[in-house]
Amino acid sequence: MKEILLCKYGEIVLKGANRRYFEDMLAKELRYRAASFGNFTVRYAQSTVYVEPQDDFADLDGMFEAARRLFGIAGVVRAAVAEKNMESILATAKTYLPDFLRGKKTFKVEAKRSDKTFPLDSPAICQEAGGALLSICPWLRVDVHHPDATVRVEVRETAAYVHAGQFKGAGGLPVGTNGKGLLLLSGGIDSPVAGWMMAKRGVKLEALYFESIPYTSEQARQKVLDLAGLVARWSGSMQVNVVSLTEIQELLVKNCDEEYFTLLLRRYMMAIANKVAEMRGCEALITGESLGQVASQTMQALNVTNDMAAYPVFRPCIGMDKEEIVQIARMIDTFETSILPFEDCCTVFTPRHPKTRPVLSKVVEQEQKLPFDELCEKALSTLQTFYIRAKF
Ligand code: ATP
Ligand code: MG
Repeated sequence: MKEILLCKYGEIVLKGANRRYFEDMLAKELRYRAASFGNFTVRYAQSTVYVEPQDDFADLDGMFEAARRLFGIAGVVRAAVAEKNMESILATAKTYLPDFLRGKKTFKVEAKRSDKTFPLDSPAICQEAGGALLSICPWLRVDVHHPDATVRVEVRETAAYVHAGQFKGAGGLPVGTNGKGLLLLSGGIDSPVAGWMMAKRGVKLEALYFESIPYTSEQARQKVLDLAGLVARWSGSMQVNVVSLTEIQELLVKNCDEEYFTLLLRRYMMAIANKVAEMRGCEALITGESLGQVASQTMQALNVTNDMAAYPVFRPCIGMDKEEIVQIARMIDTFETSILPFEDCCTVFTPRHPKTRPVLSKVVEQEQKLPFDELCEKALSTLQTFYIRAKF
């Protein structure tokens, strides 16, 4: 018996003329991911991408998880392949499904017949398959309204497929269909989640990390690269740019009022991010800010930093509370890495009493104590770029 994956499209079924483009992208990405798991063929038909192992060495379990992390796929089904006749469909159902039905009390069968020449109609297929399963799973009862399990028989173009339900996919849109964004990636919990959320909307990610060696460590940098790798398992491989803020931070501490340190630093970050975005062809900045979470994320503080941005700043976590952000961080597997205790450049030289309702003109007054553009250029000259290859 052969088991395959049926990957069902998400939002792209709503696309009109350019649907083909989206489908090609999904199939291409699935092919790319499949290469890590052995010999598979990938093709699409009828709002579904078929991923079929070609030999016994292909790792279907691994591919199943990788497909579930692909944006643009709403659901993934593991299905057994049968020939297009009732004898084969029933025999396949009887060998493949009992494992799924163990521990379930009630079930129903749904049939979908996209090949209308198939001799039985859907109700007849359901009836026969239901009877066959009852005969070998005597603990089951049929419940068409609230079944514990729904078994599906799909009669399609070249074969029939039998399965016991769809697993949730990543949803969203294929990465790359909505431009490229520069993710300001720190070692915290929020920014990896923010990147993941925008990648889900089809944004290809490139990352920018600010460090402040010796105040921040090599391990802090490695943690950020690791986080990029974890996000890349969903969004695809990405470049991580690293820029040093050491000199800027030291000068801020010597020359500016303490209560403005963080705000000034964040304006430098934005200005440098503008330049990196321009160099790398990114059309938006992405941050993990959440309204009111810390002093630099009040509405007034966000306005002060936003003032420096030359691109739209996407802040997908803005309306989320920490608990909700943590929930996503756990689901996408970044949480455990995010909570490793390495310092971030924002947490060195933090003011004891940061301004929570800053006035832009006062911030600019402080900013003018230092040669802003020159310091940004110097910081940019420290830029290093790391290519983080996704391990699916
Ligand atoms: P996170 O959990 O993402 O670190 P946070 O709650 O700690 O966020 P801040 O430290 O104020 O909040 O940072 C707000 C946002 O600014 C981050 O989500 C991130 O997008 C960006 N940011 C902060 N520090 C850095 C850094 N060292 N490098 C790059 N971006 C940063
Ligand atoms: Mg942080």
